[in-house]
Amino acid sequence: MTTETKEIIKFEKDFTRQEAIPEAGIKRALEILETGCLHRYNTPKGEVSDVALLEKEYADYVGAKYCAGLSSCGSAIYVALKSVGVKPGDKVLCNAFTLAPVPGAIENAGGIPVFLEIDENFLTNLDDLEKKAVESQAKFLLLSHMRGNIVDMDRVTEICSRLGITLVEDCAHTVGARWGDKYTGTFGKAGCYSTQTYKHMNSGEGGLLVSNDEDVIAKAILYSGSYMLFDRHISRPSVEVFERHKKNIPNFSLRMSNLVAALLRPQLADLDTQLKRWNDRYYVLAKGLEGVNHIRIPKRPEKEHFVASSLQFTLTDINIEMVEKFIAVCAERGVEIKWFGAKEPNGFTSSWESWEYIKEKQKLPQTREVLDFLCDFRIPLTFSLEDCEVITKVIRQVVEEIF
Ligand SMILES: *Cc1c(COP(=O)(O)O)cnc(C)c1O
Repeated sequence: MTTETKEIIKFEKDFTRQEAIPEAGIKRALEILETGCLHRYNTPKGEVSDVALLEKEYADYVGAKYCAGLSSCGSAIYVALKSVGVKPGDKVLCNAFTLAPVPGAIENAGGIPVFLEIDENFLTNLDDLEKKAVESQAKFLLLSHMRGNIVDMDRVTEICSRLGITLVEDCAHTVGARWGDKYTGTFGKAGCYSTQTYKHMNSGEGGLLVSNDEDVIAKAILYSGSYMLFDRHISRPSVEVFERHKKNIPNFSLRMSNLVAALLRPQLADLDTQLKRWNDRYYVLAKGLEGVNHIRIPKRPEKEHFVASSLQFTLTDINIEMVEKFIAVCAERGVEIKWFGAKEPNGFTSSWESWEYIKEKQKLPQTREVLDFLCDFRIPLTFSLEDCEVITKVIRQVVEEIF
């Protein structure tokens, strides 16, 4: 006599485990430790610091004129907002689906966020952008390419130029990604990138700010804390530009250290290989979840050359209790899904409603509806293609079992 028992599929690997730093980065970091020259301005005479070299290489990579290294992406956004002229009390348009450091940077600059709805593809609702730009008269847009999803940048730049809005891009999740031929972060006045552990290059903490505008980058370098040693930068405009601003810009001490840059330079050299590895994993996952009942993965526009270091999908035709159940059962089986519908902020995941320090309460019914059913997980490169297959099998099984 046999009874059929279905085997429960489980996933064993850690969703937060990153790859090792490349050998060349470790070697260079050790050299720097041996010389003691960790500070970006503490380099032997005649030598260019690792931070300065990284800035030049990164600017060249994305096709921007200038780049400045900072201590984090959050500080890069803060410095970018200050450098493009955000003053206390100024309104800053921003998509509501983003991470906590983004409204944090607006707050830090004294700005008031005006949140924009997102649509069913997790992208900023550009009709809402037009509407709220007119209503609020805001002159700044901080566009966060959240989880690597890139909205139609042709339309964004058209709206911004028509309405006289200054664009700053948060590219924490789009290092190496493009809209058409153009890298994210180069569409507006400034672009900000993260090199924090969970992003596309890992130095623990770190940020990069790019701009084509000589005054914006000079101010950003001064704000970052250049101790009037700005002439040691190699990705910069002429010294005269700094002379215009140097006495008016406070030193916020948000520099990048040589140790951080040493870890990043070999990763930048490898970046295009890594991007492909992320997307290979994404395609395995997306294919494995295709056609599964109650799961919808948005089709992405042809012009979006994304880097999928994470995957998002929507659960459809179920209620919130079932979403919670789905997340819980997946977690029991080793698949850690983040849920933006949770009422309380949890780890890295929070929603605009929990940022209560923002006094202007804002209702965003479309965003709420999307977030309630939005599931998200990271795709670390420590996962093999086979691991990605297993993840899809776990999810399929859970769906079949509980829905
Ligand atoms: C991580 C992240 C940031 C902030 O980056 P840090 O380097 O941690 O300050 C900003 N925006 C988004 C969307 C992020 O994911």
